[in-house]
Amino acid sequence: MRPLIPDDRLNAASLKNAEKARYARHFTLPEVGPEGQRRLKAARVLCIGAGGLGSPLTMYLAAAGVGEIGIVDFDRVDFSNLQRQLLHDTADVGRLKTESAKDRLSAINPEVHVTLHETRLSAANAAAIAEPYDLIIDGTDNFPTRYLSNDLAVLTGKPNVYGSIYRFEGQVSVFAPHLGGPCYRCLFPEPPEPGLVPSCAEGGVLGILPGIIGAMQANEAVKLLLGIGDPLIGRLVHFDALSFRFREIKLRRDPGCSICGDSPTLTQLEEIQFACDMTPPSLPEIDVHQLKARLDDDTSFVLLDVREPAEIEVACLPGSVKIPLGELSQRLHELDPSTEVIIHCKAGGRSAKALQILLDAGFENACHVQGGINAWSREIDPTVPHY
Ligand code: ZN
Repeated sequence: MRPLIPDDRLNAASLKNAEKARYARHFTLPEVGPEGQRRLKAARVLCIGAGGLGSPLTMYLAAAGVGEIGIVDFDRVDFSNLQRQLLHDTADVGRLKTESAKDRLSAINPEVHVTLHETRLSAANAAAIAEPYDLIIDGTDNFPTRYLSNDLAVLTGKPNVYGSIYRFEGQVSVFAPHLGGPCYRCLFPEPPEPGLVPSCAEGGVLGILPGIIGAMQANEAVKLLLGIGDPLIGRLVHFDALSFRFREIKLRRDPGCSICGDSPTLTQLEEIQFACDMTPPSLPEIDVHQLKARLDDDTSFVLLDVREPAEIEVACLPGSVKIPLGELSQRLHELDPSTEVIIHCKAGGRSAKALQILLDAGFENACHVQGGINAWSREIDPTVPHY
């Protein structure tokens, strides 16, 4: 495999004495050596997301001396991030993740240049953001951005180092159809139906898992930049942390793939509509201030909490009836259709689904709470933990 960083860029990169000392253990590896280290210094890597996967991978890339690290993220640090997102400290809660990331990476290695893209990656801005970079690393946690990263990488001819995590399991691969193997769409042509795939917030994730998967992504990125070893092209590695088993799955490019196939139909970036945690507009809803007024006023309604028991341990509103969304259809008999039901969850996604179930079952007087208990924590009562 040829190094991703061409010789003209290599020739323009030189190392100071302090850098020679810093990278001494790379110098003694024949596969890296002073030349490989200069190649890393000349490299420009774009990391999409500064969360669970973005934390280990950007920290290792910075420590390894990758010269330019770009980070795309629009989010702010939340307490519930700290269990796995080691880029950010407790004191960073509330700050932009990009800024907190830059502080951490600069502290690890001041020789590295960190460029921040404080925005949500979209079909409109993705190509311009990615343009200067040699390689894209997908550290996202949602399907629209995952498809966008894939499509961006295919259309711009840059490798996409893919990783994903859920509960105790993770996956890693390198998608680079121009170098061989498939793209993400060859495996999964279209995003799943909204609601079929639970988010990390609903399903949970072991805090150590992104450390393992993200470090593997950093490993593949450095190999591609240097052109050493066998990259994970055409192979997907699945890791189960509970059984500690790795499985390798061989992957083939799909000639009918809509973006990397023989007759592609996707020739420019498209926004993917995937209502992950969004509320269908037609459902009746109230905001947390209206809920507060109702709770202060009367108790003639049922407040239904459709979150999981573990979430209720973290934060809950007194007096609520608790039925997890997954059990709601079987436990509808516990609710009286003639009583008004106000449903809430964490952020408004699951409560919308629960409301639809109630409406389908003939409940006429039901609504759900916009923004869920996290909005309550932000706007009404900060002593209720935000997670
Ligand atoms: Zn493909």
